[in-house]
Amino acid sequence: MARILFFSIPAHGHVNPTLPLVRELTARGHHVLYYNAEPFRQKIESSGAQFMPIDAYLPPAPDDLSKRAGKDFASLIEMAADTTIALETDFAQQIQISPPDMIIGDSVCLWGKLLAQKYAISFVCSTTSLAFNQHTARRMKQRPGEILRMLLGMPRISKKLALLRKHGFEVSDLPALIGNDNDTHTIVYTSRLFQPESHTFSDRYAFVGPLVQRQYPRQAHDRPLIYVSLGTVLHDAPAFYRACIHALAGMDCDAVLSIGESVDPSQLGEIPPNIRIFPRVNQLKVLASADVFLTHCGMNSVSESLLCGVPMVLYPQHSEEESVAGRAEELGAGLRLKKPTHRHIRDALCAVLADEQFRAAARKISEDFISCGGSSEAADFIESMLP
Ligand code: UDP
Repeated sequence: MARILFFSIPAHGHVNPTLPLVRELTARGHHVLYYNAEPFRQKIESSGAQFMPIDAYLPPAPDDLSKRAGKDFASLIEMAADTTIALETDFAQQIQISPPDMIIGDSVCLWGKLLAQKYAISFVCSTTSLAFNQHTARRMKQRPGEILRMLLGMPRISKKLALLRKHGFEVSDLPALIGNDNDTHTIVYTSRLFQPESHTFSDRYAFVGPLVQRQYPRQAHDRPLIYVSLGTVLHDAPAFYRACIHALAGMDCDAVLSIGESVDPSQLGEIPPNIRIFPRVNQLKVLASADVFLTHCGMNSVSESLLCGVPMVLYPQHSEEESVAGRAEELGAGLRLKKPTHRHIRDALCAVLADEQFRAAARKISEDFISCGGSSEAADFIESMLP
């Protein structure tokens, strides 16, 4: 049986979608060593993998991480380069004692890819967002602030690329570092239908669909259930939640808001009886009964919503979420929120609830997701590349 090293970044949106695959690989008898940070230990161990802590190698998280995540590209590259270099010595010792058969690395966890290249280990890329190439790049709408940050960050990026080269990593330029070509075996946790420009990706790409299962029954309810979440990273948004509460207070509906741990519910004013607020919920369970999801358009949230056949109000926060929102909108399963004011929120929620076409489009995508090969196709794909 194979010894497989799995590298991902410490973020729920990047770890969650990989766990069913890890479960499948360990059930087939493979030894999976999953490199991630302590807060994710329990989740990872419960999937059958051996947890490999990387906390000691990660640079300290900036205080304003919750505002910059996903928007500050230069910091991401700096963090990836520093982590790669810090990790390398121990990694080299570990693989000398027990050589791995393969590295599976998240597309933004650059140390997985760099270590695989330098130590000539077979590599599979795991992409928890939409697959990316020059064709999809053209569709990406970067916000002016993101473009400015990127330009200002270029000298910092160049410095880190030079440092990586000094340590013997092959990094010709930035596109080669962050890009994924048509020759790299890649698993994408969505379907060819949902992937924009899917015809431009080679057959080395396995579009296996979201690996999460619809495991909760829909609870009967008399009036619509609205679910609101901005995900697990950029969710420190009390003004937005207040606007949601204002909008929902006047509606004949029930609502669940997942607001994260950093917002104190007392900041949100009086909560009407039709609204329940939680720091975190079992999202798949809530979605099983929801009628509309007001979402920040993280790839997992959108995939989970569509899998459950729930149409969305789309409120993306940065360019990657913008792409996911754009695709959901293009396929008719969501309506974009124009502005985060209580009037626009109420109007968008009411419009999605009133128009059966949004639900029909979401259900069509759900059927397509369910027809994908899932964990077993992903595991077959990996096994076909093992020595
Ligand atoms: N999630 C959850 N409970 C919550 C909010 C989010 O379980 O209250 C999960 C959600 O099911 C999804 C992940 O956290 O799997 C969020 O990932 P996504 O890619 O949507 O957004 P991110 O948090 O990375 O911005």
